[in-house]
Amino acid sequence: MTKLEKIYEGKAKILYTTKKPHLLIQYFKDDATAFDATKRGTILEKGIYNNKISAKLFELLKNAGVPIHFVRLLNDREMLVKKVEIIPVEVTVRNITAGGMSKMLGLAEGIKLEKPVLEYHYKNDSLHDPLINDDHIQALKLATEKEMKKIARLSLKINEVLKDFFAKVNVTLVDFKLEFGRFKGKIILADEISPDTCRFWDSSTGEKLDKDRFRRDLGNIEEAYKEMYKRIFSI
Ligand code: ADP
Ligand code: UDP
Repeated sequence: MTKLEKIYEGKAKILYTTKKPHLLIQYFKDDATAFDATKRGTILEKGIYNNKISAKLFELLKNAGVPIHFVRLLNDREMLVKKVEIIPVEVTVRNITAGGMSKMLGLAEGIKLEKPVLEYHYKNDSLHDPLINDDHIQALKLATEKEMKKIARLSLKINEVLKDFFAKVNVTLVDFKLEFGRFKGKIILADEISPDTCRFWDSSTGEKLDKDRFRRDLGNIEEAYKEMYKRIFSI
């Protein structure tokens, strides 16, 4: 499958049309941004790691019955995906306090939550992805009640599948962000699942193995992505 026209270039990925109108090519860049793109950099080979890691995790989720946009890997940096109408709501799933939740509620990082917390953020960079709830989403017609029920159910299921998988490679899944879209009237999982969009902590040492190494200038950034890649592909 070859790329036809670039239809979107985002902070981390580029989307291209293909000869099939319902399929897109998703290209993963090495560009990294944080804090509403006020911090910018390059993480060498990140695009390759994120493409392959996402592909493997999408396959895992597909086998668990989660509908996904991923069709197949094309090469090191590209995957073929179903073209969806993205729902402009970023879904965050949290198992342990960190990042935005710690800041918002004045909590230390690393507190295990009694149950997974689902958070919705309006996908809008200029507004800094504000926190919204089900009422906002329905009142503003970002998604229907039925769609949000499905999204919540799928998000919790994805959390269970991923938590179990990462436990096997000695990684604690702290939190992650998902995006869903509409494809032929159905809700499916889109975008990516990678160290850019998840917090991964080594279960023995607590070492951060994700984009927080870039956000917080912790060093060994490339090494963390490579380490996650190695662990994910070790089983
Ligand atoms: P951003 O837009 O936040 O800068 P990216 O660089 O990751 O993010 O760009 C990828 C864009 O593609 C995102 O806006 C995402 O919502 C969108 N997207 C992901 N999967 C699909 C898909 N299957 N169909 C259409 N759009 C998608
Ligand atoms: N996240 C993401 N994209 C965003 C914001 C967050 O992928 O635009 C991921 C982030 O990597 C983390 C989870 O979502 O795994 C929760 O992030 P949080 O809300 O704590 O925000 P942050 O601390 O990154 O500002």
